[in-house]
Amino acid sequence: MTPDEFRKHAHELADWMADYMENVENLPVKSLVKPGEIFHKIPDKPPLQPESFDSLMRDFNDIIMPGITHWQNPNFFAYFPANTSPASILAEMLTATLGAQCMIWETSPAAAELEEKMMIWLRDLIGLPREFEGAIQDSASTATLTAILTAREKATGFLSNSDGIEKSGVLKIYCSEQTHSSVEKAVKISGIGKNNLVKIPVKDDFSMNPEKLEEAIIFDKNNGKTPCCVVATLGTTGTTAIDNLKAIGGICRKSNVWLHVDAAMAGTALLLPEFQWMLEGKEYIDSFVFNPHKWMFTNFDCTAYFIKDAATLIRTFEILPEYLKTRTRGKVNDYRDWGVPLGRRFRALKLWSVIRTYGVNGLREKIRNHIAIAAKLSEMISEESDFEILAPVIISVVCFRYNPAGYSEEQINGLNEKLNHQLNDTGKLYLSHTVLNGKYTLRMVTAQTNVTLDHVRKAWFLIKDTARGLIH
Ligand SMILES: *Cc1c(COP(=O)(O)O)cnc(C)c1O
Repeated sequence: MTPDEFRKHAHELADWMADYMENVENLPVKSLVKPGEIFHKIPDKPPLQPESFDSLMRDFNDIIMPGITHWQNPNFFAYFPANTSPASILAEMLTATLGAQCMIWETSPAAAELEEKMMIWLRDLIGLPREFEGAIQDSASTATLTAILTAREKATGFLSNSDGIEKSGVLKIYCSEQTHSSVEKAVKISGIGKNNLVKIPVKDDFSMNPEKLEEAIIFDKNNGKTPCCVVATLGTTGTTAIDNLKAIGGICRKSNVWLHVDAAMAGTALLLPEFQWMLEGKEYIDSFVFNPHKWMFTNFDCTAYFIKDAATLIRTFEILPEYLKTRTRGKVNDYRDWGVPLGRRFRALKLWSVIRTYGVNGLREKIRNHIAIAAKLSEMISEESDFEILAPVIISVVCFRYNPAGYSEEQINGLNEKLNHQLNDTGKLYLSHTVLNGKYTLRMVTAQTNVTLDHVRKAWFLIKDTARGLIH
């Protein structure tokens, strides 16, 4: 493709993209294709002769688009969002065009230095102490793995890195029963072992019970094990419960245990001064992760990872083969030493674009609005006697179920599961579920970039009508 042909297609694509943004609200939220349907429409063999980009776009529209679930439809209420915004998309276009691989400072000084500055902006915006330094990671899962590996090395005097995990005795990791599965994955990968992950019971509000944590740490110490790291969550995936950092952090400090905080979703709420209470006890935090690629209008992938002692992080991950030795080493940040991958995309650019284009006040206004919509939804649900709220509503997630009188728990679970599938099959909205104390729970997340109270109100009417239609 020549630059002129590229220009023509890029202009057409820009139109396609703007049209998509205008129309996405009218597309079915959840793709309704059957397994294998897309696979069988794609030829078994690649073309030998060049094909035109136009023919690719035709197939994209005919074959691919029906198999897309539209996360940017404001009626997407499932999981947690993966928000984009025009500012972020434009910056991604620049990143793709430059195609810079930003593994070390020299391979694009602007990428390294903009990343350093963006991590300072974000650190200050969310209220982490000034001694924290940050790097962008591809996902919260990777950031949590990075934290657990760093905690492992700190606990073993870097012995696991040099001699292998079996020389280090038995390490123990702690998290609550409501913690995201990425912690279990990290514990498996780190060599610490799934059976050394201790899941601490939660309180009525689904936050970690600090007393049970302390008991577990003491028990393990008395049995010759080494407590290594506690993962606390701000905004659990099921209900956005907030673990008590002050109580948990005090326990970690006493026992010299690393405190990692997973705020993948709720970290964005820390932009609001009225949510700084979530960070009470922040002086105890060793590492912290949140995902601008969830709620902060920045295209996937973009995870902000912060660490108090960057030297320990770097000592855990650095490698120095001959071809990576440079004259600037030690004077600049070479981010390949701050995590798992060597190669890195220029991801700071989209953060810069998002933060500048919205302005901090613009970001805060949108986030506040999402939180207000959740509060309003929770109010509307509470007004109906045949529905019930199943967890405290803290940020932008409402957990509830249909609970008509005269049915057994088992029947209620069945009804809610049926309700969830029936709603999603309409294509008009997309909800996901969790199970709380044995109850099948619908989760409605009001945090899509463009969601309004009007979308939520219409969705709520559909939910109510569909639910009542199930038994009448
Ligand atoms: C979404 C989520 C994760 C995983 O995030 P990825 O970036 O997809 O790895 C981890 N923890 C919590 C609390 C989450 O909500």
